[in-house]
Amino acid sequence: MIGNSNTLEWGSSSPLGITMDLLTPKITDITAEGLSLSGDLTGEELGLTDADVTIRGTLAVGLDLRAVERTICVTGVLEGMAIRQCVRCLNDFDDPMAFSVRVAYERETKAAPPAAKRDDSRKKRAAPAVEIEPEEQNDDLYYYVGDHLELAPMLREQLILASPMHPLCAKECLGLCARCGKDLNEGPCHCAAEPTGGPFQVLRSAKKKLGEPADR
Ligand SMILES: [Zn+2]
Ligand SMILES: [Zn+2]
Repeated sequence: MIGNSNTLEWGSSSPLGITMDLLTPKITDITAEGLSLSGDLTGEELGLTDADVTIRGTLAVGLDLRAVERTICVTGVLEGMAIRQCVRCLNDFDDPMAFSVRVAYERETKAAPPAAKRDDSRKKRAAPAVEIEPEEQNDDLYYYVGDHLELAPMLREQLILASPMHPLCAKECLGLCARCGKDLNEGPCHCAAEPTGGPFQVLRSAKKKLGEPADR
């Protein structure tokens, strides 16, 4: 898909035909007035694998791209449903997602690192060694080459960053019994009835297992 943007087919149909360019907008279309893009994308179109995030159906993506001097600022919102695995009970659950992105793109230059080549003639600062960053916020910075942006890798990364480290199906998820592995959300197991804790308990239950084979 290098260079050829005219034969891309999107799984989702768009009456405006705008999703075709949604992930690869042309630099020349991005002006100071801004370019708005929106559409529904599958996880596959974003290059997401099940190891990253599993998306149920499609993600609604709305982006606003704006050229600010030599930087392209991208803001927008992603909304959809992720399928996650609860870290406590190991069940899959639907996790509604809605989050905003705010990143910046700069042209990748081979000769010099992009930050060093910025000619900011209006502001004459005495400390050129200091890293120049956008003033209001620390936007994540991406680079582009050629005549268009590649938004998919950025959106994929933002989706992964927005995903919880320890997803829970519910705050009060009871998880699995550490001893018998039963899902305690479905009801208590037999272990709970027994006196809890201590190394003696482990010994006792081990003996019990030896003596009388469990019936299930
Ligand atoms: Zn759970
Ligand atoms: Zn148990």
